Amino acid sequence: MNTSRLQNRWQQLPETEIRRLQAEKLRHYLRTVVVPFSPHYRELFREQNLDAGSIRTLDDLQRLPFTKKTDLLPTPDHPERFKEFVLTPDAKILARQPKTILRAVLHGRKKVEEELSAEFRPVSMYFTTGRAAEPLPFLLTKHDLDNMTSASRRLMEVCGARPEFRMLNAFPFAPHLAFWFTHHAGVSFGVLTVSSGGGKVLGTEGNLRLIKKMNPDVIAGVPTFVYHLLQQAIEEKVRCQNLKTIALGGEKTSDGLRRKLRDMAAELGARNVNVLSIYGFTEGKLAWAECPFPHGAESGGYHLYPDLGIIEIVDPKTGRAVSSGQPGEIVFTPLDARGTVVLRYRTGDFIDGGLVYEPCPHCGRTLPRLVGKISRASEIKEMNLDKLKGTLVDLNQLEHVLDDAPHIGAWQLELRKAGDDPFDLDELVLHVSKTDSTANQQLDHELRERFYNEIEVHPNRIIFHDAAEMRQLQGVGVVIKEQKVVDHRPRANGDAPM
Ligand SMILES: [Zn+2]
Repeated sequence: MNTSRLQNRWQQLPETEIRRLQAEKLRHYLRTVVVPFSPHYRELFREQNLDAGSIRTLDDLQRLPFTKKTDLLPTPDHPERFKEFVLTPDAKILARQPKTILRAVLHGRKKVEEELSAEFRPVSMYFTTGRAAEPLPFLLTKHDLDNMTSASRRLMEVCGARPEFRMLNAFPFAPHLAFWFTHHAGVSFGVLTVSSGGGKVLGTEGNLRLIKKMNPDVIAGVPTFVYHLLQQAIEEKVRCQNLKTIALGGEKTSDGLRRKLRDMAAELGARNVNVLSIYGFTEGKLAWAECPFPHGAESGGYHLYPDLGIIEIVDPKTGRAVSSGQPGEIVFTPLDARGTVVLRYRTGDFIDGGLVYEPCPHCGRTLPRLVGKISRASEIKEMNLDKLKGTLVDLNQLEHVLDDAPHIGAWQLELRKAGDDPFDLDELVLHVSKTDSTANQQLDHELRERFYNEIEVHPNRIIFHDAAEMRQLQGVGVVIKEQKVVDHRPRANGDAPM
């Protein structure tokens, strides 16, 4: 198998070769790792009469059914269903595999046992994020952590990092991918990394003290928190003139927010800062980044690692794969994962520019890229927000519109019921803080127009706050992830939904 070419030249191969090598690697991975050792997929392949060897091209991947988050959730009969997705090696099968025999002959039995243990024994566990009641555990082995190290080093390369950089990792400290991936990225790339844990661990003040002390070249974190951090830095007249990159993850990064953060960085003494977005999810154990691009230009999108996973874009309704550059839902299949493994995993995330293979217009790398805006449908569904005041609302789009609105900085959308009566009408309250001295009345009028043009609904009230009040409303320094959309509608049984 010559798939080492896929690994060594991950950023240099044309589409046809990527797809051919990915299919080859997938077939091998399914045949020697997933089907023999995954209780769930062994059963599924048997039930559906599927043969791993018959996966000849990436199009054949479509014969495999999707895996959804609900497939892993506990049921009364299977309280620990997620365990069905953890690879559990069978010593007898392993002993028969030619690779194992060859390694034993070359390096001795004890060495092979050690290697297999590192490959399959879970040593770490992360949880899925989102607002679902039940975060799911995902197990990682040493093999996964090694892959994460190499992927995170690539992410730093894509972002244009240099070894002399200093990075403040302000992602919230939690057993979640974002914090740990960023920490691994900094350490394995070899930049001085301080992982502060975000607002809840050190508060905005503690993070500001770190900025003063280390004068970072990179600040990584969740957009809302980074916004508040820079806002407070400006208020306290902190200088951060070394700053070159702001790397954001965990929420969408709109063009308006990029512009605002760049302007704020300029006030801190840092000109021409790159505001780059990172996309990843626990289930994939990976994260991908944009490369630096000229201000005002279109982003080159998320640069994928073709040797570590396959991304498909599918029509969310029919489940059929769409062609290159077409919008759809992001579906992920790993190519080298151990621990918890999910195949054709439906992320619930939609991307409007789809998957493309042409050389990146900014960095020239030839690799699959995800381009356009990502909307996380899962968050909206889980909060039951799709229908508001009886109108179907695209809240993802609304978030972009609010981030792009001039004269306002942080904002929060609050859903209420009139008179707090669960049977009364929905109310929409918009909380905003201004970035300049525009009159409240004028801004109120402009925001109402913007709202109506976008979702054909007017907010019931617009309330103006100063920066400190907004920090309090969004829970900066209190909650793990700052809140931009809150649902305070009481339910008929008296329980608030959040
Ligand atoms: Zn690029």
